[in-house]
Amino acid sequence: MKKFNKILIANRGEIALRVMRTAREMGIQTVAIFSEADRNSPHVRFADEAVCVGPPPSNQSYLLGDKIIQICKDLNVDAVHPGYGFLSENADFSRKVSEAGLIFIGPSPESIELMGDKLTSKHTVAQYNIPMVPGTSDAVTDRIEAKQKSKQIGYPVLIKASAGGGGKGMRVVENEADFDEQMDRAVSEAITSFGNGAVFIEKYITAPKHIEIQVLGDKHGNVVHLFERECSIQRRHQKVVEEAPSSALTPEIREAMGQYAVMVAKACNYYGAGTVEFIVDENLDFFFLEMNTRLQVEHPVTEQITGVDLVKEMIWIAEGKPLSFAQKDLKINGHAIEIRVCAEDPRNNFLPDVGTLHTYLRPQGNGVRVDDGFEQGMNIPIYYDPMIAKLITYGKDRNEAIDKMTRAIDEFKISGIETTLQFCKFVMKHEAFLSGNFDTRFIGLYFTPEKLNEMEKKDEEMIAAVLASYLLNHNKIVNSSESTVGIALQDSAWRANRLKYKS
Ligand code: ADP
Repeated sequence: MKKFNKILIANRGEIALRVMRTAREMGIQTVAIFSEADRNSPHVRFADEAVCVGPPPSNQSYLLGDKIIQICKDLNVDAVHPGYGFLSENADFSRKVSEAGLIFIGPSPESIELMGDKLTSKHTVAQYNIPMVPGTSDAVTDRIEAKQKSKQIGYPVLIKASAGGGGKGMRVVENEADFDEQMDRAVSEAITSFGNGAVFIEKYITAPKHIEIQVLGDKHGNVVHLFERECSIQRRHQKVVEEAPSSALTPEIREAMGQYAVMVAKACNYYGAGTVEFIVDENLDFFFLEMNTRLQVEHPVTEQITGVDLVKEMIWIAEGKPLSFAQKDLKINGHAIEIRVCAEDPRNNFLPDVGTLHTYLRPQGNGVRVDDGFEQGMNIPIYYDPMIAKLITYGKDRNEAIDKMTRAIDEFKISGIETTLQFCKFVMKHEAFLSGNFDTRFIGLYFTPEKLNEMEKKDEEMIAAVLASYLLNHNKIVNSSESTVGIALQDSAWRANRLKYKS
């Protein structure tokens, strides 16, 4: 067992800070890396040491594995935490880290390889009778054969890139007439995004829920699961609201999914934190989708309901410690929700927005956690993921977590850039979300920019009414930029200007 003195976090923004905070609590020193675009980022200031790795584009900075390993050697670093994205699921990098005598805080390169490719991962778990979405078990290249297979599977089908991730290289095909066109698109997107054009075909589940299980395994063969996360509110096949537990699962299904997830992890000798993703249909039948061999963006909801610090566990596992708890010690307490506050415009198909955070005031209070990597006045760089913050609320039950989330969204003041905040408030208030009866079609079925405008108009009318009564009662003008009313006014003024400018 090796106790770490110093770790390097090969990432940026909120996840770099998230990892560093736990490291500091554990008495471990931290090294940040940063690109020229992130020179003034909070993660750089928080770290004990920080090194610039290059110009803004990731392939000239955060993806330079060899350079990062050299920095580790120069600074006497014991281990590397990759966060998510960038090098986190890069088996070559994790192998080179070990070869350099360092420890990769994550799974073995072999596990990453087995699970990094969707088809290979299906083959790996096939022996365990884990339910799979009906589909081809190998890559398809021949169109005629592919069409025959799709007919057997039954339309609609989904063409997926085997090396895929981030919702890319995925195409729904409604009927045979559209097959050729969608196949061409899927293959070319797979080549551009992943340098690998292999695609396979799956039955398209028409009203699916995305439910995933968090697992933790140590280097001694122990694996436990930490229950599920429900991640069905998605745009472009990507999550935007997550919660734990899922209100749809029965205790029996939860138990079964948990056990299957542990089997998947064992199938690839997994250690570290990982996530086994399932798709669940209307009858609550579930099917294995893939395993993500890293810490997920949405891990905080699991931390809130289990009381387990996943980063601390990852570090202990990497040091060689056995898990300090067994499955029977884990319980679900309360309910947690996370929203991703992204620099995106929900009124414009969730396209990334650029700009400066003119106002950036975080919500606070009981049951509110904000994991972020920005401060007021900072620019959101165009080079990276457009996520500004993760807002997490925790309550004794789902209703309390939702009420806290709505309150916290209202308290979160961001101006200068379009965000997903108000869209997430729309979700919190929607009857489908409130009832728990929703699936990945949520946005397509219920959301339009007009509905967001209606909601905001109502909110503004309410603010106006509150302001009017405030002025009547206090008989004075509110001018302070610090007061809630003052900020609400500034906020509306910015939005009105922005809309005028756009139209
Ligand atoms: P990626 O690795 O690109 O994120 P996933 O396989 O994890 O891809 O799928 C992402 C999302 O795409 C899922 O959460 C789900 O919404 C949708 N999806 C994937 N497979 C299917 C399927 N067979 N039927 C319906 N939706 C699917």
